[in-house]
Amino acid sequence: MTAEQHDAGATQPKAGSKSLAVLAVLRDVKLGDGDIVGQDCVRDLSIAGGVIKFTLALPPALLGEAERLSQQAAAVLRALDWTEAVEITPAEATAAPAPPPPPPAAQPAPAPKKEQTLPNVRHVIAVGSGKGGVGKSTVSVNLALALVAAGHKVGLLDADVYGPSIPLMLGVTGQPMITKEERIIPLEKHGLKLMSMGFLLAPDQAVVWRGPMVHGVIRQFIADVDWGELDFLIVDLPPGTGDAPLSMSQELPLSAAIVVTTPQEVAAAVAQKAMSMFDRLDIRILGIIENMSYFVCPHCHEATEIFDRGGGKVLAANAQLPLLGEIPIDVRMRKGSDIGAPVVVEFPDSDLAQVFKEVAARAAKQMEAAG
Ligand code: ADP
Repeated sequence: MTAEQHDAGATQPKAGSKSLAVLAVLRDVKLGDGDIVGQDCVRDLSIAGGVIKFTLALPPALLGEAERLSQQAAAVLRALDWTEAVEITPAEATAAPAPPPPPPAAQPAPAPKKEQTLPNVRHVIAVGSGKGGVGKSTVSVNLALALVAAGHKVGLLDADVYGPSIPLMLGVTGQPMITKEERIIPLEKHGLKLMSMGFLLAPDQAVVWRGPMVHGVIRQFIADVDWGELDFLIVDLPPGTGDAPLSMSQELPLSAAIVVTTPQEVAAAVAQKAMSMFDRLDIRILGIIENMSYFVCPHCHEATEIFDRGGGKVLAANAQLPLLGEIPIDVRMRKGSDIGAPVVVEFPDSDLAQVFKEVAARAAKQMEAAG
């Protein structure tokens, strides 16, 4: 079913961006060198219809500011055209605002925190990477489409808050519809249900992602999106192991993860950090996908290992995990991403599509075996 077919039950688009809009305007309420969102003073944000509620948490030294800040916050929130009521609860004095988190490696193991649930989704698989540009989103798209080709019901959540590129890769434009019950209906393409951060942000909107904002967005992705019954939800995580991917991995009800790397040693070393993050969160890693493994010259058919060879294999062997696939550098991959025609759909019989189908089959088998 396409979003358009949902017209009967749908009202206007964009309501899905409410928590983002709230957090964006609250950044106008200044506190010290920053603002109340950046200083982590906005807690327990909830939005029901036009009613916005949150707790204003201030350190003891700033409790005298509570009234002024509450009034300013209420004023900026009432300026939103859909606001009906604002309820701000002052918290008891809290500890000083949390400093930005240290790099994950320096932290004690964070406790897995899986409050959110997706009862109609059987398996939620994250695709992560140590850094950006390794092809994580391209792999997520083609893996999800390979699962569709195998007959599964699949959703794709583009949670890459830093650069949501999947709508472009799938050639999806527009915004999801919102039902009367304020549920977001994912858009659909090639039989795949898609929800993306890109739908919630204006094209030129730059957002500095701090913990509270990530939590607000995850809540929407989980609680407010009508995914329906799914066999697999593939989640394209933000790259790296910073605040955003860490929070997403902690909060999303992940069943497993796949790590994407390129072959060179330095890339494999950063991919190891992503693996450590999943390990510390007790998230099972299904295996490694090595992307951009080699390039086959279309004229002389000679294979060149542009980024060296074997980083993924070594990484997988050291962690005693399977190397799920080695994907060559191929212009069809890049072009397909740019024009919304992923290889699994555009060249379903190609050797490239075959790699993704094998990864999909293997992942599905591993998940079925796990129950
Ligand atoms: P990430 O999500 O890790 O940042 P992307 O999936 O956005 O990376 O890929 C980065 C760029 O590399 C995109 O232009 C994409 O089309 C291209 N790309 C990814 N994998 C391949 C490949 N195997 N061959 C050719 N181009 C690729």
